[in-house]
Amino acid sequence: MKLIFLGPPGAGKGTLAGLVSKEYGIPQISTGDIFRDAIKRETELGKKVKEIVGRGDLVPDELTVSLVRERLAQPDAGGGYILDGFPRTIPQAAALEEFQAMDAVVNFTISDDIVIERLSGREVCKSCGAIYHVKNMPSRVKGVCDKCGGPLYTRPDDTLESITNRLDVYKKQTEPLINYYRKKKLLRDIDSSKSPEDTLVQIRTVLGKPK
Ligand code: ADP
Repeated sequence: MKLIFLGPPGAGKGTLAGLVSKEYGIPQISTGDIFRDAIKRETELGKKVKEIVGRGDLVPDELTVSLVRERLAQPDAGGGYILDGFPRTIPQAAALEEFQAMDAVVNFTISDDIVIERLSGREVCKSCGAIYHVKNMPSRVKGVCDKCGGPLYTRPDDTLESITNRLDVYKKQTEPLINYYRKKKLLRDIDSSKSPEDTLVQIRTVLGKPK
């Protein structure tokens, strides 16, 4: 199954992609995680994108597309995958279409207020990438990942300034993809304003049981 998870920042794409990946046995491919990892390791790519990601702007299409193209050529992506955070622009979607056909686009819908509330309390594990929220989904021990014991941190782009910019960028550049995929009859809307479990139930309904 080849899936795209589409939606504003904070809609829960990353959390749900993790759950669906396990349940359906397909890898989660997150462009945001790839960029953050490159920034952490201070690679050439990391140096190029550090400021862009910190501001909440989009990395240029050409660079992002070639990265995804390489990732999708890896053997583990042969049996399907979840694209989490890609495509984010019409040119990215058009480029993807040239080399891969999707089965469905899961569209996470949510209000701006909830997005801001979620992102301003988000914490991420530095080691395994698991996602928490200081109020809604706290780790058992403060600052420590339940899954791997790694340290939790606040993403540098989870400041109010960057969150507001990311929402703006989403509306201008990414939201047009909703109609793009609706026209292709690939779009499956789900309400992601409630708990991850509730969202997972809806996703199971639209995707069907894992094969
Ligand atoms: P969120 O959905 O919470 O904004 P992501 O982890 O998906 O976070 O993305 C973090 C940042 O990585 C984005 O703000 C952007 O700078 C960059 N990025 C991720 N995916 C893409 C993409 N498909 N195209 C361009 N930039 C991207």
